[in-house]
Amino acid sequence: MKIFLENPNLLIKEFNEMAAISQGKAFITVGIEIQKQEIETIKNYRTELIKLKKDFVTRKLENEANLIYCIDNSLLAIQFELQMLVNIKEDKMSEAWGNLVNAQVTYGTVIKNYPFELQSENGYIERLESYEKLLFPNLYFQSVGGIIKKSHCSICEQNYNKCDHVKGKLYNGEICCRIITEMDLEEVSLVENPANKHCRVLTIEQNGKKIDILTLREGSTTANNSKLPGKSGFSASLTEICF
Ligand SMILES: [Zn+2]
Repeated sequence: MKIFLENPNLLIKEFNEMAAISQGKAFITVGIEIQKQEIETIKNYRTELIKLKKDFVTRKLENEANLIYCIDNSLLAIQFELQMLVNIKEDKMSEAWGNLVNAQVTYGTVIKNYPFELQSENGYIERLESYEKLLFPNLYFQSVGGIIKKSHCSICEQNYNKCDHVKGKLYNGEICCRIITEMDLEEVSLVENPANKHCRVLTIEQNGKKIDILTLREGSTTANNSKLPGKSGFSASLTEICF
């Protein structure tokens, strides 16, 4: 293994301390203003991390860049978790679900790639799963099937089938994604364990009325759903499928 030019142990120690403080504020009982402030603290720290990563990439220090990716994304997962709690307090349930899924997906990329043991990993995925079970009702998901016509690799931008990069793996501090730009849709099916938990049924119809699955309120969906594409009761995101 390459020798780190900066002291990685110091960085990991700093990260673990920071993660412990942030996680200490990731409880539903903690004041919303304190959680919002913590989100900003994490964002600012991550800005510094990204600068450090760029420096490592320039110096072609791949292990170091990958370590920064893992630290950055572990903190990003906590940022999403805090945001989910804020969303719940602000009665933005659709966004809350979106942020929980973001936290799970983000942390999933870390677990698959981390080069060192990060303390905050202990049970974190299980913690996020507990939120899912305790705070949200059973949801219905969709899975899309089709023939990929055009896709490219996010690392080298070549046709995905023609390069050696593997989706979900880290290269110089960046995760490889297969970016699908053209696909023939063959089917959409209801599934229990989807690849993409953003892709869910938003409303059900009862007595001719559309009911939001999360809030049971009448109406198409919660107003804060604007970021998600698709207004016909389904939300889907097909642009980047990493896993
Ligand atoms: Zn590639």
